[in-house]
Amino acid sequence: MTQGLRFTHHYHDALPGCYTALLPTPLQGARLLYHSAKLAEQLGVPASWFQPEYIDIWQGKTLLPGMLPLAQVYSGHQFGVWAGQLGDGRGILLGEQRLANGSSMEWHLKGAGLTPYSRMGDGRAVLRSVIREFLASEALYHLGIPTTRALAIVTSDEPVQREQQEQGAMLIRVAESHLRFGHFEHFYYARQPEQVKKLADFAITHHWPQWQHDEQRYSLWFTDIVERTARMVAHWQAVGFAHGVMNTDNMSILGLTFDYGPYGFMDDYQPDVVCNHSDYHGRYAFDNQPAVALWNLHRLAQALSGLLPVESLETALGCYEPALMAHFGQLMRAKLGFFDADARDNDLLVALLSLMARERSDYTRTFRLLSDTNVPQAESPLRDLFIDRAAFDAWFRDYRARLALETQSDAERQRSMKAANPKYILRNYLAQQAIEAAEQDDVGPLAQLHQALSRAYDEQPEYQSLAAAPPAWGKALEVSCSS
Ligand code: AMP
Ligand code: MG
Repeated sequence: MTQGLRFTHHYHDALPGCYTALLPTPLQGARLLYHSAKLAEQLGVPASWFQPEYIDIWQGKTLLPGMLPLAQVYSGHQFGVWAGQLGDGRGILLGEQRLANGSSMEWHLKGAGLTPYSRMGDGRAVLRSVIREFLASEALYHLGIPTTRALAIVTSDEPVQREQQEQGAMLIRVAESHLRFGHFEHFYYARQPEQVKKLADFAITHHWPQWQHDEQRYSLWFTDIVERTARMVAHWQAVGFAHGVMNTDNMSILGLTFDYGPYGFMDDYQPDVVCNHSDYHGRYAFDNQPAVALWNLHRLAQALSGLLPVESLETALGCYEPALMAHFGQLMRAKLGFFDADARDNDLLVALLSLMARERSDYTRTFRLLSDTNVPQAESPLRDLFIDRAAFDAWFRDYRARLALETQSDAERQRSMKAANPKYILRNYLAQQAIEAAEQDDVGPLAQLHQALSRAYDEQPEYQSLAAAPPAWGKALEVSCSS
């Protein structure tokens, strides 16, 4: 009944010492709550598997041919401090799915029960946090941002204690690799350089095969990690996404947005916003993310110092800022509708952002409305949203003058600006509404939000309310950071 998908277990075979093999622990009263039908289709998972009788696949009780479940060991720096061994405390790698195009996708079951790395935890995840991860990874994916994906959500009757009692749940997370900076740090600090090398060779063989026989492979590889990380962070900054807990154990070597916990999309533009309530010093504030990612790359560089001379590591790290700035510049230029680069573009951007920060403008709606600008019209559809109209008018005059230098038509520019400025983002309060309904077994709001986010740049009149400015209570909402 489970023929068709092919799984391998290369991690298991190639990396002894990097994991503990074990089986998931099923949940009481487990049932499938929701899944991503599009992702399932991409992976070739038959639609029938999402019927109730297949629940044991989704909670890891029925293993598909080739799966050999394991919990990975890794360490990490948390909030800037070496935390020692962490590891998969509640997640289990089920196996690596072989896809028709030759690539592979790891299936990871989060909330799968106790492992040798659970430390003080219970090995479980709650429905609230699983839905948050599902929605965020789908939202980022459809915004064009590299991320892990989410395939299926399992809910249950099993009580799990957080600040209050909640429902235990599981998530099937899918990614080309779950290797984190922390994997390399683990064996570096354990003084097992041969394991660091094995992990690096494994990563290169499976994810950078074009360089596996290249003499410069480690330096090419590390440089690519640096650049991928820079591009990922540039994307976050452009859409107003704050990860919330950029510890090195939550950093993917593939440059995927990874491990969704206390993240947040900005409603009002507030560059120093801190969405993680346990981040008392604001280490992971939105505007600190570019610097933190570089700090994390330095920790990875240290862990790779047995493979590469310091000069090569430094050269690679030196690529971070130019890559970040180039990518961020390109994304923001598209948001502003500038196709040809002009020396004054950055000034215009900085002036707009500082005006928005002063006014606490809604980040997403401001850029979306800016996309409606008609160069011949001196009045902007945005004007009424600003209290300081004179300041806005002055900026808008300069902006129109700048747009007038562009060669494409108003209509063309408006179209491409709308493809760069999403209409739908995952606002915190929308996620919370979807969660509260799902906790009562109503997946309607979750499905609608998922659908709206899957076409983030398109006008979808049926989901108009999901693009509205958040109500005051929605902005003030404090959600629990526990997961
Ligand atoms: P996170 O903050 O989710 O990135 O998790 C940091 C570390 O704590 C990882 O090693 C997790 O596996 C572990 N962890 C988090 N929550 C739990 C839990 N409920 N039970 C066991 N381990 C956990
Ligand atoms: Mg983590």
